[in-house]
Amino acid sequence: MSEAPVVDAAPAPETKPPHLLLDHYLKTLRLPSFKREYEKQAGLAAKAGDDHVKYLLRLTELEMIDRERRLVDRRIRAAKFPSVKSLDTFDFKAMPTLNKPLVRDLARCEYIDRRENVIALGPSGTGKTHIALGLGLAACQKGLAVGFMTAAALVHELMEARDEKRLLRLQRQLGNLKLLIIDELGFVPLSKTGAELLFEVFSQRYERGATIVTSNLPFDEWTQTFGSERLTGALLDRLTHHVHILEMNGESYRLTQAKKNKQGPEANAGAEANG
Ligand code: ADP
Ligand code: MG
Repeated sequence: MSEAPVVDAAPAPETKPPHLLLDHYLKTLRLPSFKREYEKQAGLAAKAGDDHVKYLLRLTELEMIDRERRLVDRRIRAAKFPSVKSLDTFDFKAMPTLNKPLVRDLARCEYIDRRENVIALGPSGTGKTHIALGLGLAACQKGLAVGFMTAAALVHELMEARDEKRLLRLQRQLGNLKLLIIDELGFVPLSKTGAELLFEVFSQRYERGATIVTSNLPFDEWTQTFGSERLTGALLDRLTHHVHILEMNGESYRLTQAKKNKQGPEANAGAEANG
């Protein structure tokens, strides 16, 4: 059997102008920045008196930069963040219990390589989801595969996958994530099956991938969510073996903002208490 040609058979060079062929090959090789830039960069190189190595280096660098940007965009889309928030927009002064140097350090994503976990604990509105989103975005920007889900949505997906006999596939997909963010653990109590399926996720990620959990419940109340004390114990054991805890105690950011607005000179004008 003869092997299929990788690219279309090239027409005889004399029948097609070289730049058309070049465009065609660059497209086949998936080098869009090369294709877009080679003409313009040739002009610039000629003007600057750069040699062919410098010219090729510049084109290759442009391709690398674009490729990285496309990967980051893909990672962000795949993560399915409910909204894209960065740590730059987080007001650390409003949350004094939060260890800012630790968050800054986590943003460098080395804990992900070390397969460590992060747990953000605190009442509603204190910015737990914002921090989780910011750390998730930072990981995407490093090109890492990230997934974001509320605990309820994850359990729902796991149950659905199990009913449709594709649980293994979903578990494998979750296993491929370098960082899994599970938001709002503890908001709703889980069914026995739900708790067991979620436990399995934690168990499979243990020392194999990083996980961020946000919860409004202190650890000693997690049994309420998981039903079984034994299961909760085993879960906490794995989750907290290599963990960074973010204490986010304080008033709801939204509530504080709303109060500030009310006290301000434009009383009531911009006060939306429940944004
Ligand atoms: P939680 O997940 O703890 O309930 P969120 O992260 O959803 O809280 O925060 C509620 C809203 O307030 C979000 O829009 C979030 O961006 C904003 N927010 C909370 N804390 C801060 C903060 N310290 N600086 C800037 N925005 C904040
Ligand atoms: Mg939240």
